[in-house]
Amino acid sequence: MCGNGSNANGAKGANGTKASGGAFRTNPYQPVGDYLSNVANFKIIESTLREGEQFANAYFDTETKIKMLALDAFGVDYIEVTSPAASEQSRKDCEAICKLGLKAKILTHVRCDMRDARIAVETGVDGLDVVIGTSSLLREHSHGKDMAYIEKTAIEVIEYVKSKGLEVRFSSEDSFRSDLVDLLSLYKAVDKVGVNRVGIADTVGCASPRQVYDLVRTLRGVVSCDIETHFHDDTGCSIANAFCALEAGATHIDTSVLGIGERNGITPLGGLLARMVVTSPEYVKSKYKLTMLKEIEDMVAEAVEVNTPFNNPITGFCAFTHKAGIHAKAILNNPSTYEILNPADFGLTRYVHFASRLTGWNAVKTRVGQLGLVMTDDQVKECTAKIKAMADVRPIAIDDADSIIRSFHLTLHEVAPTEAQAPVTA
Ligand SMILES: [Zn+2]
Repeated sequence: MCGNGSNANGAKGANGTKASGGAFRTNPYQPVGDYLSNVANFKIIESTLREGEQFANAYFDTETKIKMLALDAFGVDYIEVTSPAASEQSRKDCEAICKLGLKAKILTHVRCDMRDARIAVETGVDGLDVVIGTSSLLREHSHGKDMAYIEKTAIEVIEYVKSKGLEVRFSSEDSFRSDLVDLLSLYKAVDKVGVNRVGIADTVGCASPRQVYDLVRTLRGVVSCDIETHFHDDTGCSIANAFCALEAGATHIDTSVLGIGERNGITPLGGLLARMVVTSPEYVKSKYKLTMLKEIEDMVAEAVEVNTPFNNPITGFCAFTHKAGIHAKAILNNPSTYEILNPADFGLTRYVHFASRLTGWNAVKTRVGQLGLVMTDDQVKECTAKIKAMADVRPIAIDDADSIIRSFHLTLHEVAPTEAQAPVTA
């Protein structure tokens, strides 16, 4: 895979050619073709069982970890687990997961150190993600090693892991605050000895999308192996950074469910796929079982005792709720008017909000139909006026709006029971 320029989906990735050729561009939101871009040909390294275990609220017992392997059925390419060198139970869990025969490859994340590497290769994992800090801050205040030592150790570890027939990634930590020349010469050296992937990690969440694009693009010209990227979300750029990394030629993205991880976490799996399904619908829909997303997020949210944020892409409680009258009318005519994502792709349904003073009669008309009632358009408009009048006085719930509709309907029939009109449902 490495050293010959034919990385799985890097510089010679088929996607760019297709996109620039135009023949495969079925979607107007796809970026203009770029032969380095991997937006329609990327792999996910799912790290809920490693990065996610570093989340403040996370304590994953063996049973919880096994449940989270639903990620395998979801379709992620890799599942990364905590280093077996971390604790005796971590080692046992790693071994147990490796024995399950999952489709996803199992990786473990270890320090760039021969002792850790020796423990890891004995667990049955498919590969090791090796990491070491390269910023001057980390070199001075964390491990205290210089670049020459880092390079020598990295090569030793990589050659050892490869001699065992396993996949190996070498990543710097805090890449965006590391010296560029140091970084590139280190990556070049590990690429030369046949590392499968090099990793760029925005460990502190400081990078902007443009910085990411520039660094990945530069690195793409220096190494021929795959490029993995890892983005923390401290400044809210983790999804945008992942997207720009793919545009610049990165091949692998690290994610966790709901983004859980150290501090406020990393690129969330669901948020990344929301972004990617818009850009590359065929690729994402054929590869991932998107209808499982909500149950996986719910399971992880419960395990770490958090709620799914209201503004979470796809699964936030109001992600497919339309409220303003003008939106509701258009959505009822054609959902694409105000939806870039189709809730049905994720096994979800849209909801047209009709219990507010912003509602329009089209939304109320739909609700009348859902309640199995019959009204003319004029009657629906009259009923809508009553809902708005009540909603001007106080916030109203769905039940309130429903009872206004029902009692209005009742009065119609009390007055003129024979004048019932044809059903208004579409
Ligand atoms: Zn991290």
